[in-house]
Amino acid sequence: MKKFDINVGVTELSYDELTPEELELVNAAREATHRAYAPYSHFYVGAAIRLDNGVIVPGSNQENAAFPSGTCAERSACYYAGARYPEARFKAIAVTARGADGNELDEPASPCGACRQALVEYEHLAGHDVPVYMAARNKIYKLDSVSALLPFTFTEF
Ligand SMILES: [Zn+2]
Repeated sequence: MKKFDINVGVTELSYDELTPEELELVNAAREATHRAYAPYSHFYVGAAIRLDNGVIVPGSNQENAAFPSGTCAERSACYYAGARYPEARFKAIAVTARGADGNELDEPASPCGACRQALVEYEHLAGHDVPVYMAARNKIYKLDSVSALLPFTFTEF
């Protein structure tokens, strides 16, 4: 028997430590929370994807009375990016959320399992690691890749 660990490196950053490019992306995700349609969960999620063509594509959660018909912020952004800019590749992703009180969370929000699977497909298409920024009110967790969020990734690549 052999036991091994899989380690995920996380860098905790303050807003002051972000580069202007990183801050622009995180702020795009924060702005997107205000466009969430979340009358059921009252959990307002925003995502933003920077593409290699320079465009930042935002997304927000879009809920539905038939709950499975809604979608998360990350997938609304990545599928729009894929539909609108099929030749572009992902460079970085940011996600954040506000709670029912309207305030940004104390702890960073992280993508759900379905979004991790969706996002890792686009990371593989990019052919390189795509960093993920998970932002909260006073701190940001940076992971070097989407794959770090999803060990033993299922992929056709
Ligand atoms: Zn999700």
